[in-house]
Amino acid sequence: MKMHSYWLDTATPSGDYTRTEVPKEVDVAVVGGGFTGLSTALHAARAGKSVALLEANTVNWGASGRNGGMATTGLAIGFRDAIKRYGEERAVGYFREYNKAIDLIEDIVEENELDVDYERSGKMNLAWKPSHFEGMKQTAEALKRLVGQPVELVNRANIRSEIGSDVYHGAMVDPLGAGLHVGKFGHALAGLAIDAGATIHEKAEVVDVERVGSGTVHDLKTTRGNLRAGAVVLGTSGYTGKPFGWQQRRVIPVGSFIVVTEPLPRNVVDELLPNRRMASDSKNFIYYFRITPDNRLLFGGRARFALSDPSQDKESGDILTKAMHRVFPQVRDARIDYMWGGLVDISMDQMVHAGERKGIHYSLNYSGHGVQMASYMGKVMADAVSGKPEANIWSDLKNPWIPGYFGQPWLHLRVGGAYFGLQDKFS
Ligand SMILES: Cc1cc2nc3c(=O)[nH]c(=O)nc-3n(C[C@H](O)[C@H](O)[C@H](O)COP(=O)(O)OP(=O)(O)OC[C@H]3O[C@@H](n4cnc5c(N)ncnc54)[C@H](O)[C@@H]3O)c2cc1C
Repeated sequence: MKMHSYWLDTATPSGDYTRTEVPKEVDVAVVGGGFTGLSTALHAARAGKSVALLEANTVNWGASGRNGGMATTGLAIGFRDAIKRYGEERAVGYFREYNKAIDLIEDIVEENELDVDYERSGKMNLAWKPSHFEGMKQTAEALKRLVGQPVELVNRANIRSEIGSDVYHGAMVDPLGAGLHVGKFGHALAGLAIDAGATIHEKAEVVDVERVGSGTVHDLKTTRGNLRAGAVVLGTSGYTGKPFGWQQRRVIPVGSFIVVTEPLPRNVVDELLPNRRMASDSKNFIYYFRITPDNRLLFGGRARFALSDPSQDKESGDILTKAMHRVFPQVRDARIDYMWGGLVDISMDQMVHAGERKGIHYSLNYSGHGVQMASYMGKVMADAVSGKPEANIWSDLKNPWIPGYFGQPWLHLRVGGAYFGLQDKFS
């Protein structure tokens, strides 16, 4: 069994950027080589800017190369919760951003003829409890009426048309969700950014940042050389660290974990997920799953509130394997070929937070829904550094500092884990 991402294991990097010379001066320095950073670099370079992308590890090393490969519709919070918090008009606007984000991925794939196993096979939310399905009925009604979203409900009696499992009490299917091979996609974005004129610098961690004057110009110190940038865009997600203290205190990194089986026979795959939907369920300790392009079952979840490191990944992976057998007894004898974990960047309100703070542009806090949104926000950030910040509809959302939190997530993980576990039990 391999203890690293299936997606990175089955994709070829667009190049080796570990020895590229860091330029002395650029228009835009992008910090982080995930979808936010890569998409920013691509779109800013296409807009004529000189761009250097600085990545502490390698391209796609963070959450972008470790996720479920699901570009799904909808916010990290429920649509009805969004209406309660922000009112109908803003909730609809926020929801539609995710549709636009999937459209952007589709456009990038089609325009550049990328071979990244992209497919609009739809997504489904599965009800863990009967009460959750009652809630889905109201959500589906609101989504159809207010957004025009073509969602469909599937009741328990018909659930086998969507999933080969009897543990769920119904589903809400949205045909606009998509799946893709995120290893191939991240590497393809890097190749496109290079073609557009950007430079990429792997193993170049930004260790210090100093503002020059009162605008957006900054001097950056990296482990591979220093540079001056006319603008800085931060796309470091759950891996945001010290030089960016203000942002770090607003990101709670939480581990999410995944196991992947050996390739399964076609008849088994057809039984498990006949329509190849991207799937997740309605628990706080969520399970999410899909079929990979080569017919494996990918099964992920929070498993427990923990960070990600090799021993946590194994412990969490073992919990998830048991959960997978419970949902899909058909794969009880299937070998597990991959097990890994990564960090999602949660905020207090589970909303995206993006804007400019003391001259540094940032886009963070995708709260586990960043495959589509990080790719999209890269374009929005490229617009922002070109003096067009209007496309960033998240900029006026307050993102308060998490009380008592200085970037040491353990205590918050314990308290949060207990709270969400109780909610799952009694909701
Ligand atoms: C296990 C898992 C499953 C998930 N599943 C899904 C899913 O199915 N669908 C979905 O929509 N979302 C999912 N997500 C969330 C999604 O993957 C992320 O929201 C998204 O990839 C974030 O992209 P990013 O570019 O902002 O950050 P990342 O991809 O995390 O990249 C940040 C990068 O910044 C670099 N970095 C940090 N600090 C510095 C520094 N000082 N200098 C230089 N570089 C630095 C890091 O090395 C890292 O490579 C999942 C996440 C995880 C972990």
